[in-house]
Amino acid sequence: MILRVDRLQIELPMPSEPDPAAAAAVQELLGGRFGEMSTLMNYTYQSFNMRGRDKVRPFYDLVANIAAEEYGHIELVSAVINGLLTGTPTSDDPLQTPFKRVKDTAGLRHHWIYAGLGALPVNSLGKGWSGEYVFNSGDLVLDLLHNFFLECGARMAKIRVYETTDHPIARQMLGYLFVRGGVHALAYAKALEDLTGADVKKMLPVPKIPDADFPEAKRFIDRGLHARLYRFSPDDFKSIGVIWRGEHPQDGAKLEVRDGLPEEQGGPANPPEEPAVFAPGFHPEELKEMADHLMRRM
Ligand code: MN
Ligand code: MN
Repeated sequence: MILRVDRLQIELPMPSEPDPAAAAAVQELLGGRFGEMSTLMNYTYQSFNMRGRDKVRPFYDLVANIAAEEYGHIELVSAVINGLLTGTPTSDDPLQTPFKRVKDTAGLRHHWIYAGLGALPVNSLGKGWSGEYVFNSGDLVLDLLHNFFLECGARMAKIRVYETTDHPIARQMLGYLFVRGGVHALAYAKALEDLTGADVKKMLPVPKIPDADFPEAKRFIDRGLHARLYRFSPDDFKSIGVIWRGEHPQDGAKLEVRDGLPEEQGGPANPPEEPAVFAPGFHPEELKEMADHLMRRM
């Protein structure tokens, strides 16, 4: 089971200037081969399928627990895409051709023609996320090695999106996810070292540019988030601390497990209405009256 909390993992600066081309680029980090849907679903299925888990408890706990954090990442990246698309129409009046300005954009037309200016489970080209991106051989070492590779690939894609857009909503998310992805890559490296003796963490970071070089990531490193693994469960996954221990290889910070959700949470995602795409309706006030009527039943 999973318990859902209606808050983002960090505060995002929005709404802001629309940038549908940046929204399309960020889609790669959601529904691309190395996107958050891939990390979420790889770790989720690996945890569902792990056999003999009583014998490999800390490794099961690690994969299952990181899967839960990844759910919050698809939520965060989706909120960023919504933020980047907010304000794209030039008018609420359909007769004024409100999307004429972006008809030749490098953005995804699906964001407003098919969807209501919201995130889609697709990559930056609009190609749907695929279950074929999930790798789960059943061999624990091979699956952990794949997860290490996946986190490094995810970092590569995030750095290239950082190189594509300087929009503050995107960069706030990127800075945070550089750091959280770094925790996951190191956690899988340490798990591989515990299992095999190979010092996989010496390969980090891949690509070879430190998180601290990005000012938006440095702020989270300065708060210690690069050394912190959150335990996303009230009572379970308690053995992750036998893997997540020791010192951070980059700066020597003491690695620690924190029980519970990230402490620097943002508010709930709340993208404003967009009547040009009838989201949530062409006359939102009418829907609000209905909702207010229902709320009086509480
Ligand atoms: Mn992630
Ligand atoms: Mn991750």
